[in-house]
Amino acid sequence: MNGTGFALIARDGAARRGRIATAHGTIETPAFMPVGTAATVKAMWPEQVKATGAEIILGNTYHLMLRPGAERIAALGGLHRFMNWPGPILTDSGGFQVMSLAQLREISEDGVVFKSHIDGSRHALTPERSIEIQHRLDADITMCFDECTPFPATETAAAQSMRLSMRWAGRSRRAFAERPGYGLFGIVQGSTYPELRAESAQALADLGFDGYAIGGLAVGEGQAEMFRMIEATEPFLPPERPRYLMGVGRPLDIVGAVGRGIDMFDCVMPTRSGRTGQAFTRRGTLNLRNARHQEDPRPIDETCRCPVCRDYGRAYLHHLFRAGEMLGPMLLTAHNLHFYQALMAGLREAIAAGRYADFAKTWAAEEASGDIEPMPDSLEGGNGGA
Ligand SMILES: [Zn+2]
Repeated sequence: MNGTGFALIARDGAARRGRIATAHGTIETPAFMPVGTAATVKAMWPEQVKATGAEIILGNTYHLMLRPGAERIAALGGLHRFMNWPGPILTDSGGFQVMSLAQLREISEDGVVFKSHIDGSRHALTPERSIEIQHRLDADITMCFDECTPFPATETAAAQSMRLSMRWAGRSRRAFAERPGYGLFGIVQGSTYPELRAESAQALADLGFDGYAIGGLAVGEGQAEMFRMIEATEPFLPPERPRYLMGVGRPLDIVGAVGRGIDMFDCVMPTRSGRTGQAFTRRGTLNLRNARHQEDPRPIDETCRCPVCRDYGRAYLHHLFRAGEMLGPMLLTAHNLHFYQALMAGLREAIAAGRYADFAKTWAAEEASGDIEPMPDSLEGGNGGA
């Protein structure tokens, strides 16, 4: 396959600085993809998303197939035109969200039959239908249809689930219409079993994809286990193709995964936490709803270069969240996305200069130096919804 191109620009240990070429533009890696579940990155104009430095966004097949429907989006000119995002788009396969959101799921060798969480209507997703939907949406990067193995899973259950996903990867590969600038990524599964991860990565590499994702992590296994699974997988992934860690994560998860050879990330954390009053800073996270911010005129993060930190203070943001004003989620989402993009730009610069290790060490030390206000459990992991 040679749909999307990938150029490796620099290496620093296992960390990689690269560039992906797609039909709708290029993506500098390591890259973070904001999640645009229902054809919108919630609370943000597309122009504002772009202004944070984001070059690619993620759309969710499950949500879009149910509402407004892939055929309708295709008739309206595809997802880029429909949502006014002219840049690259990656769509997930729908598999993860069928498992987490839909009702009455029945999994068979063929695929999944389920009832919509919106209106209870019956739908089927198979590898062929998932690839067709992503084609109609005009996704620059299409993901193979897979089963995200529930966590925890016994080794037998994890092996059965992973091998089903590998058979579905073969069917996804055959169903995918190859076009220049459009790529198909395989997804490694295997739960927390290194030998299953290796088997899965090898099976996908044998099929040959434009990129390789690692799925089924950030589901509750913890950071150390997640890093161990990346290390078990990475040696089996073709080095000349981009690697994408799905649904991850916190800033230090991203820093650590980049140091283990990952190039792409997506996570609902900056957007979803932004809507609940949670702010990311170099010195940990702040909950702007807390009373201690009510008379604090300082910006969210004094080192941040975003328009929100330039023009607004913590006391005002605290007021907006306490008063239930919609500008609160809008401003905080913008800051959090900018913060994540600044992290990625810092990583890219550090790798190119051969000082990734220093960057990672400094980032961890600064984060630990602040008084982190803990996030609610509901924000943990997962690429379900924005
Ligand atoms: Zn800011």
